[in-house]
Amino acid sequence: MSFASVATAAYLVASLLFVLSLAGLSKHETAKHGLTAGVTGMVIAVAATVGLVLDGHPDIASIALLVTAVLVGGTIGLWRARVVQMTGMPELIALLHSFVGLAAVLVGWNGYLASEHLQGSLAGIHHAEIFIGVFIGAVTFTGSIVAFLKLSARIKSTPVMLPGKNLINLGALVLFATLTVAFVIDPQLWELIVVTIVALGLGWHLVASIGGGDMPVVVSMLNSYSGWAAAASGFLLGNDLLIVTGALVGSSGAYLSYIMCQAMNRSFLSVIAGGFGIQASSAGEAEQADHREIHVDDAAELLNSASSVVITPGYGMAVAQAQYPVAELTRILRDRGVNVRFGIHPVAGRLPGHMNVLLAEAKVPYDIVLEMDEINDELSVTDVVLVIGANDTVNPSTTEDPGSPIAGMPVLRVWEASNVIVFKRSMAAGYAGVQNPLFFRDNTQMLFGDAKERVEEILGAAREGHTRTGKETSSMTV
Ligand code: NDP
Repeated sequence: MSFASVATAAYLVASLLFVLSLAGLSKHETAKHGLTAGVTGMVIAVAATVGLVLDGHPDIASIALLVTAVLVGGTIGLWRARVVQMTGMPELIALLHSFVGLAAVLVGWNGYLASEHLQGSLAGIHHAEIFIGVFIGAVTFTGSIVAFLKLSARIKSTPVMLPGKNLINLGALVLFATLTVAFVIDPQLWELIVVTIVALGLGWHLVASIGGGDMPVVVSMLNSYSGWAAAASGFLLGNDLLIVTGALVGSSGAYLSYIMCQAMNRSFLSVIAGGFGIQASSAGEAEQADHREIHVDDAAELLNSASSVVITPGYGMAVAQAQYPVAELTRILRDRGVNVRFGIHPVAGRLPGHMNVLLAEAKVPYDIVLEMDEINDELSVTDVVLVIGANDTVNPSTTEDPGSPIAGMPVLRVWEASNVIVFKRSMAAGYAGVQNPLFFRDNTQMLFGDAKERVEEILGAAREGHTRTGKETSSMTV
C-alpha cells in the first residue's frame, strides 16, 4: 500500500474529527471533548501531510524549509496563545485570518506561475481556481487586517462612509466577474495583478465601512471567508483535507454570522455587503447633559435596601478583571436573601460568550446567569441594576433614535429598573462610538473608577455592614 492511500485515510479520519469537534463545541458540557477531537484531528492531518511530502523524496533544502516553517510557526502560535488576554482574543483571531488570506493569495500566484504547461478544459478550471482563490484570499487578508486594527483600537471603529460606497463594492464585484471570464479564456498576468489589487481594496473597504457595533458579525464573517480561501487553496493544491476543512470553517462561520445578525436585528446581506444600505449617522460622543454621581457608601446602602438586583456586565468588567469581586458581592447579597441575577447580552465583551466564561471562571452559579431575552421583562420589577463596564449593550438609543449607528440592535432595557448604577471610568462612549442616553436618565447614577476597585470597595462597605445615611449625589455637566 502506498503512503498516498494511508494519507487519504488519515485525511478522512481528521475530517471526521473536525466535524465531531464542531459538534462538541456547540455545548458547555461537551466543549472539552470537542477541543480534544479538534486537536487530535489536526495532529493527524499535519503528520499525514508531512509524511506525504517526505514520501515524494524531496531534496534536503525543501525538508529544511518545511521543518523551519513548522517550528517557527508552531513556536509563535504557542507563545501567542499562552500570553494573549481574553480581551485580546478577537484581534488575535482577526490577525490569524489575515494569514489564511495571505496564504491563499500566495498559493494562487504560485499556481499561476507554475501552470503554463496545462492545456484544454483542465487549464480553464485551474485558472478559475487561481483567480477565485486569489480574490477571496486578498479580500480576507486586508479585511482581517482592518478588523485587527479596529478591534485593537489602533484605528477608530466608526464606519468609513465613502461617497457611493455601495457602487464601489458593486463595481469591484462586476470587475472581478468580468476578469474571471477573461482569465479563464486567456490568462494574462495583468489580469491577476488587477484582481489582486481590486480584492485588496475591496477587503479594506468592506470592513472599514462597518460600524463598531457590527464588528462581532464581521469577525465571524471573516472567519467564514478564511475558510473559503483555504478551500480554494485546497482545490489548487489538490488537497482534499484542505477543501473539507475550508468548507467546514466557511459554512460554520457563515451560519454563525447569520445567527449573530438575527440576534442583533441586522440584515445579513447588508453586513456582508459592507454595511449596504446603512447611512452615515450624526450620533457621536458630543452629547451634553447632566448626570448624577454616586459614591461607594451610597451604592452599598442602596444595595442593602434592595430585594432584587440584576448585574449586566460588559467589556469593562473583563478589562478590570472585576468578575471575582462581582462574584463575591453576589454571594454576600444572596446570603442576605437578595434575589441577584445576571443579564447577559449576546455581544457583551469582545467574544461570543465572553461574559459567560468570566462568570464561570469566578464560579457564579449558572442558574442565575440569564440571557438577554430571559431577563429583559424582569427589569421593570428590579430594584437595582448594576451596569458593570457595559455600554453599547445597555444603550436606549438603539430603540429611541432611528439615526443611531446601533439603531435596531436589541439591548438590555436596564433603564426600566427603579435604580441603575453604572460602573465606568469616565463619560466616554462605548465600542460603537455612540454616546449613551442611559447615563443622563433620572434613575441612573454613575460610579466612576476602575470597576474592580469600586466593587471591592462596595464589598468592604457591605462586609462592615456600613450604612452611611444621607445621599451625596452631585450634579455635573459632561
Ligand atoms: P462597550 O465596549 O460598549 O463599553 C465598555 C465600557 O467599559 C466602556 O464604556 C468603558 O468606559 C468601560 N470600561 C473600560 N474599562 C473599564 C474599567 N477598567 N473599569 C470600568 N469600566 C471600564 O461594552 P459592551 O460589552 O456593552 O459592548 C460590547 C461592544 O463590543 C458592542 O458594541 C459589540 O458589538 C462590540 N464587539 C463585541 C464582540 C463580541 O463578539 N462580543 C466582538 C467585537 C466587538 P470608560 O472608558 O469610561 O471606563
